[in-house]
Amino acid sequence: MTSTPDYGSQQGSQFRPEYEPPAWHVDPAQQQTPWHSVGPMLAPPRDACQFCGGLPAAHVDVRAHRGLVIWMQWETISAYLCATCGIALIRKMTTKTLWQGWWGVGSLIIGTPVTLLNNLSSYLRLRQLPVVTAALGRSQVDLGRPVLERPAAYVALIPLSWATWLVTNLLTR
Ligand SMILES: [Zn+2]
Repeated sequence: MTSTPDYGSQQGSQFRPEYEPPAWHVDPAQQQTPWHSVGPMLAPPRDACQFCGGLPAAHVDVRAHRGLVIWMQWETISAYLCATCGIALIRKMTTKTLWQGWWGVGSLIIGTPVTLLNNLSSYLRLRQLPVVTAALGRSQVDLGRPVLERPAAYVALIPLSWATWLVTNLLTR
């Protein structure tokens, strides 16, 4: 004879479990924090890196400048950035400035030097931060190569040698 497992007492056809369900299961008011709402859904602090959510981060401006003979364009990212994301953006935007920044008199004399000095000061601030990892579920900006290992940066030598030649010519005439 086979015995069936005892699942609880049966009264007629009505099944009644022989345990008390926990209070949180019966009363939704007691379910204060749904289990699925904790963790990744917590908002990152306001001063965390805007790209990866890493801490600590510093509030810096990263700029790029483009000279277009009689016109000029600025591009600015003003945000909290961690060391990795910030230096990645500085490398990218400084390289862009070094090949696009010089093509206008105003850009050559003011726009590009101001942009490069701004990025240098932001770089020095970010260098003081410890390197951190990205917050859960987010990733950092790709650091890429240093500026002087990017061929585009050397385009700057053309307008700079021209400007040096021009100034030398004016002074020695
Ligand atoms: Zn970051």
